[in-house]
Amino acid sequence: MLPTESAVAAAADKSPPSRAVDDDWPPGVALVAGVLGGAAAGLLLGWWLAAPMVLALLGALVGAGAWLLGQWRQARRLLAWLQEGADPARVPQVGIWGELAYRAERLLSERDRRLADAAEQLRQFFEAIEASPNGVLLLDADDAIIWCNSVTAQQFGLDRIRDREQRVTHLVRTPAFVQHLQGGRFDKPVVFTAPGGQVRLSVLVRPYGRGMKLVLSQDITERERNEAMRRDFVANVSHEIRTPLTVVAGFLETMADLPLTDAERRRVLQLMQQQTQRMQALVGDLLTLAQLEGSPNPGADRWQPAAGLLRRALADAKALSAGRHQFDADLDEAAELADSEGELLSAVSNLLNNAVRYTPEGGRIGLKWLQRQDGSAQIEVRDTGPGIAREHLSRLTERFYRVDGSRSRDTGGTGLGLSIVKHVAQRHGGEIEISSEPGRGSCFRLVLPSWRVRLGQPAGDARREASV
Ligand code: ADP
Repeated sequence: MLPTESAVAAAADKSPPSRAVDDDWPPGVALVAGVLGGAAAGLLLGWWLAAPMVLALLGALVGAGAWLLGQWRQARRLLAWLQEGADPARVPQVGIWGELAYRAERLLSERDRRLADAAEQLRQFFEAIEASPNGVLLLDADDAIIWCNSVTAQQFGLDRIRDREQRVTHLVRTPAFVQHLQGGRFDKPVVFTAPGGQVRLSVLVRPYGRGMKLVLSQDITERERNEAMRRDFVANVSHEIRTPLTVVAGFLETMADLPLTDAERRRVLQLMQQQTQRMQALVGDLLTLAQLEGSPNPGADRWQPAAGLLRRALADAKALSAGRHQFDADLDEAAELADSEGELLSAVSNLLNNAVRYTPEGGRIGLKWLQRQDGSAQIEVRDTGPGIAREHLSRLTERFYRVDGSRSRDTGGTGLGLSIVKHVAQRHGGEIEISSEPGRGSCFRLVLPSWRVRLGQPAGDARREASV
């Protein structure tokens, strides 16, 4: 009978005999000695009782019996240790039983070691699968769950312990998944919305062993979203370019077909110029975005005065405003910014230009530099324009998202300005914060991390307030 695993463990725990002592008589010699000793004792007693042969035979039998009893006791002790892990001190140490115990112990510890190695390898293997970013699920021939990693459990809404040995199709009832699993054609992955309705999954099934299945699942929500965004983007760009192109083509036709007065010709040329400028602005912004996406983040080794940068952006905004707005600036002459490529200038210019374009004549536009307590800096552009309703705020930095499309286009907007600002902020390790309320103006804050900001030598007054 083979020892049970627990007995093996128990036996291993109770330090079995380490070495057999080989100094016992061979069993044959012990048996012969027992028989002869018994016979001799019986013979002596027999002479005295006048029945020497009978008692000699009896003595030989008693000697053989004693020998057998000794062997039986040794065997019992060995068995007790093997089966129940009994006290190893009682295990035979000598003779053939000692040798047997020693050999058994060696075999058991070898088996123990192999079992432990195999268990360790299995543990490491499952740990590696557990570390996979994708879901891994093992099913038996009846599609019952053998094992799954935590990613699968999360994606399919399974409980790794409770749902073991349950049929997966009873737990994940999404028709596309059930049909795919039962259809038996596993050459292509199946895509479906995971239970819970939030996550899109691509699931690949690979049969193995005797009807068992390896189910690999991947969260493709982000990928699908990106693909949809890319499709939308191409559609938007085409739409944005087609409109001015159609207008220009129409005007060209008019000029070719109709005799126009000088005034009409000038008007048509002016309108065509507006449309081409619109296309130029769009292509310019698209190139800027492509450049921002395709280049490494700017380093933080070239420092420039923050006030100088902000003043340049302010000058451009004033030129655009042409005296229609009042500007306030609150700058810090001592602060310096790490911005090697001039991206921050373009981001602040975008915010100021939006303020000019959307704020009606007579409104106020403020530009403020503020260093926060944690060392980060905040460049704030505030206006007294129409403001933006709450539901639009989270989408403003999406490409081509406009609250008021016609106002944006009429003022030369491309719908890409704030997405450029957001990109620039992120490339500098910062973010953009927007707060606005209809009728109460808007406030855009470009927040930069402390490692992009430092206090240098003030050029004049440390802080200057300007009202222009
Ligand atoms: P656009 O070129 O259309 O201005 P942006 O990405 O710069 O594109 O801005 C997105 C939208 O956010 C604009 O279309 C406009 O509706 C709104 N917006 C941006 N800045 C302001 C602002 N200062 N006041 C009101 N609305 C604004």
